Amino acid sequence: MTNGSFILKIKKVFGAHEWADKTANCINGCKHDCRYCYSKEMAIRFKRKTPDTWKIEEVRNNQTEKNFSKKSGSFMFPSSHDIHPDHLKENIRFLRKLLSSGNHILIVTKPHLVCIKAICENFERKKNQILFRFTIGSADDAVLKFWEPGAPEYNERLESLKYAFTQGFETSISCEPMLDNHIENVINDTRDYVTDAIWIGKANFLLRRLKMNGYTDEESIKHAEQLIKWQSDIRIIKLYTAYKNDKKIKWKESIKKVVGIDLLTQRGLDI
Ligand code: SF4
Repeated sequence: MTNGSFILKIKKVFGAHEWADKTANCINGCKHDCRYCYSKEMAIRFKRKTPDTWKIEEVRNNQTEKNFSKKSGSFMFPSSHDIHPDHLKENIRFLRKLLSSGNHILIVTKPHLVCIKAICENFERKKNQILFRFTIGSADDAVLKFWEPGAPEYNERLESLKYAFTQGFETSISCEPMLDNHIENVINDTRDYVTDAIWIGKANFLLRRLKMNGYTDEESIKHAEQLIKWQSDIRIIKLYTAYKNDKKIKWKESIKKVVGIDLLTQRGLDI
């Protein structure tokens, strides 16, 4: 407040809310156990989990039993866990509740083929309410294994994308965070099977997150420092220049602010 008048602060939108105005989750913890995980960081900060217990998934029965009313906009599901084969049944039950009331769902996952097949089969008739977003930050399995030790390998993610696409579902890719300096490999391999967009984003607050998530060893820090160098402003501007006219590529807030694109002020626009 200055001169006795209020200054209205416009909130910039980032993270999950760039994509969807609401989030929905039915599990605490995640077997994928990604080193850079924001949800893990939050769960540890608020003492719901420890670095070791994060990968123990606990179903939130109060969520899987809940009924949802129809809401405007879309839900991102899940936003703080993933869809692992071990809890496929529970994830499907939860999805069914969300979809049966007519809601639109952005399903964001590091896809296991068995899970994508089950979702496609169960919700064939609801496909107009679903947009898949498969997270693939690198085409290199060694890189994926290091950063996302419990998540599927590259080929399984690609096969999942192709499966959903051939079944007539809407598909998109999240390369957030990019995990190496060859994201063009992911873009080239996936673009023909993407009906919507390929999102590109940086790894945010990487050193802070690694520390909270229990990765303070030399190897983790070395990998993180390398990744931070690969995502320097100069390199990001080069990447942006290469793809700025590509209609299939969209940029997350971490890149928009480097290259001078206005940040969103409204949730869920997915642009
Ligand atoms: S898949 Fe998502 S929720 Fe699960 S550990 Fe990785 S970043 Fe976290």
